[in-house]
Amino acid sequence: MAYTIASNICEGVADCVPACPVACIEQGQGANSKGTIWFKIDASICIDCGVCLEVCPIQGAILPEERPELVI
Ligand code: SF4
Ligand code: SF4
Repeated sequence: MAYTIASNICEGVADCVPACPVACIEQGQGANSKGTIWFKIDASICIDCGVCLEVCPIQGAILPEERPELVI
């Protein structure tokens, strides 16, 4: 299991990036449907700690489950 950032809900704030203890959040390519940069979680590294969800200011951008269909 891993957490998921919904690419088209993320607004690229990046508060999650320095908060992740295993550094598994990286920027995705190009812009999302909101026209902002977006970030993605490497599911093979994520340890399900939940810190990213706590710090993200955008409601619904991070989900506590693996949802690859929400990643563009
Ligand atoms: S998931 Fe949340 S904190 Fe992380 S980049 Fe997207 S909007 Fe910012
Ligand atoms: S749940 Fe934890 S390990 Fe996984 S991406 Fe979020 S902060 Fe990183």
